[in-house]
Amino acid sequence: MTNDLGDLHPDTLAVTAGRPANEPDQPLNPPVVLASTYIAGGDVEYGRYGNPTWTAFEDALGGLEGGRCLAFASGVAATAAAFDLVPPGGRIVVPRHSYQGTLAQLRHLEERGAVTVVPVDIADTEEVRTALDGAAMVWIENPTNPALEVADVDAIAEAARGNGVLVVADNTFATPILRRPLDQGADIVVHSATKAISGHSDVVMGAVVTRDDDLHRQLLTRRSLQGAIPSPLDAYLALRGLRTLPLRLERGQQNAQELVRRLGGHPAIRDLRYPGFGTILSIVLADADTADAFVAAVRLCRHATSLGGVETTLERRRRWSGEAPTIPEGLVRVSVGVENIEDLDRDLLGALEAAGGGAGGTDARS
Ligand SMILES: *Cc1c(COP(=O)(O)O)cnc(C)c1O
Repeated sequence: MTNDLGDLHPDTLAVTAGRPANEPDQPLNPPVVLASTYIAGGDVEYGRYGNPTWTAFEDALGGLEGGRCLAFASGVAATAAAFDLVPPGGRIVVPRHSYQGTLAQLRHLEERGAVTVVPVDIADTEEVRTALDGAAMVWIENPTNPALEVADVDAIAEAARGNGVLVVADNTFATPILRRPLDQGADIVVHSATKAISGHSDVVMGAVVTRDDDLHRQLLTRRSLQGAIPSPLDAYLALRGLRTLPLRLERGQQNAQELVRRLGGHPAIRDLRYPGFGTILSIVLADADTADAFVAAVRLCRHATSLGGVETTLERRRRWSGEAPTIPEGLVRVSVGVENIEDLDRDLLGALEAAGGGAGGTDARS
């Protein structure tokens, strides 16, 4: 299902990868293969081991990241497979503001004595370097979710290599269109394909990508043994979404940058966090009440968790009990979609006013 067109640009690859052969009567799109079993004697044999629709998705995402991809049932299933590479009792260095589901998984593993977790400020490269001593794995999110701290991936990967530490990068926020962690020295890339990769808020799926054949084999073994596999239809939808990832990201990033410019300096906003790239920004308001009023007041945008869809969504992250206590109560994460910027601007500004966010307005509440 690969092309023979040589090196293609990412936006072209997104459109062309994972298609059936260019021959008469082949469909343009890969079929959704609904089969639990296959005629014996081939490579696949059984529906838990492989599926041609997964393969089409894997060819496309692997091509974009520059490695071999394996599709998983969800982002957390991909994360679990990566953590499972750590030997019993091994140390995992992790951003203290990592995705809360990642931190929850690590807490669970640590409580059972399976691993030791070493939380760090991932933006503080010296702190990370020191923590790498004796570690088995370092986890990177660039940027972190939702604090949006930026890691020096090249420096961390170089230090990790010197210490024999496995480097895993959760590339869900940047996507291979903005960052390619394998090029920066990461051993494994993990994705929640639920987000920007599929891009339409209609799929829960994950993926891992690596260049290392041995790691690929180990991760494939875990997927086959543990059965954290996606449905063929989800793989099809994720691939269809992936076709327009470069376009959606370009527009969403443009919108996000323009919103940062327009909302910056608004009296209700205590802090506006944006890493300089991508479609996610975090608006810090005075307190939980103001933030709750803000997300309740939007009319075009939707108050919902998750991110990376064509539509703009937002939520106050501390409404989740698992979110790190160092994340401000008033932090609202905004996933910027591809709507017209004027409509987004009007909706968000109107909601800020409605939240009582004028200068001094928030002080009157307390
Ligand atoms: C959502 C998310 C995950 C988990 O992915 P699911 O598909 O929800 O299982 C992991 N990492 C990041 C950065 C995420 O945003």
